[in-house]
Amino acid sequence: MSITLATRAAPISGPLPGRQLRTLGMGLGLQSTVLHLMAAHGEIEPFDYVICSDTHRETRAVYEHLRWLQSPNMGLPPITMVTAGDLGADTLASAGTWSGLGGAAADRSTWLQASRVANPPFFTRGPRTVKKSVLVEAMPLLGLPGQTVELIVERHTDRETFGILRRKCTKEYKIEPVTAEIRRILGLAPGERGPSVPIVEHSMGLTTDELERLPSSSASPPFIYLRNPLIEKRMSRGDCDQWRRRRGYPPFPKSRCYFCPFQDDSLWREMKDESPDEFEEACRFDEAIRNGIRGTTTQLFLHSLRIPLREVDFTRPNGLWSVEGLRNECEGVCGI
Ligand code: SF4
Repeated sequence: MSITLATRAAPISGPLPGRQLRTLGMGLGLQSTVLHLMAAHGEIEPFDYVICSDTHRETRAVYEHLRWLQSPNMGLPPITMVTAGDLGADTLASAGTWSGLGGAAADRSTWLQASRVANPPFFTRGPRTVKKSVLVEAMPLLGLPGQTVELIVERHTDRETFGILRRKCTKEYKIEPVTAEIRRILGLAPGERGPSVPIVEHSMGLTTDELERLPSSSASPPFIYLRNPLIEKRMSRGDCDQWRRRRGYPPFPKSRCYFCPFQDDSLWREMKDESPDEFEEACRFDEAIRNGIRGTTTQLFLHSLRIPLREVDFTRPNGLWSVEGLRNECEGVCGI
């Protein structure tokens, strides 16, 4: 199989010429953990920094996995933890203020008063009538700048609408904090332009079965060269799991926030059975977002059935997401 690497320059086989830094984006899932361990076993070049962005709402199993990786008896290089804040708290703040202002029914000029959040991909269930406000720039007149006016667009539908919000959380809570840390390590001041040529080789844990997730070269600043060592080694997710077994490591949890709507039914069921209080927390979170977050006009749900999470019967198949679900982990690259 021929594989094209989505990198800033033409694919390279050796180290990046002129490299000053080699980093790993640690997503705490199977693949990036395998990369971290491979480097420790001398199977790949070591990393100068292993950087992980914390949403503060990963599952307990993922935080346990992080503690295991950082325990002194593992003898692994340290993981640099960074964060853009608490994704759960920010989402609940947005839901709370939006709801307090009247949500979709509120006067649209109140829109900016509700807390903003780079939202997870919540499932939506909409009303028959959808109202949307758009801000448009009026035509400039006689050389004078135009004013911004707000238009309310109303659309009538025969049936309820079902959809999903565009995922924004990964970029803001996982990718940008890692990029900011790389800038900090390079000594770049906030807002300062970095070098226009790649000097940082940043590795990610993508595998050959995830080629569709390869970010485009424009997804990172010019000074970062994105690298996928597992793809270069022709390794799939299954190969990573075999590598883990051969090395005698215990199974690694699937990295995700506990309320991530992109988890399939097997993961929800596992949480419900093995960590019931965490599942209860997810159910309460699901209830808290029901009336929307800033800018939404529909009800929001964590489960693709668009019914309350605590009412989902996980003992039977529940449609597309129960089959495909979170096919891939967040791993710091989803959504780009
Ligand atoms: S795991 Fe899900 S909710 Fe968390 S950052 Fe990734 S996509 Fe967003």
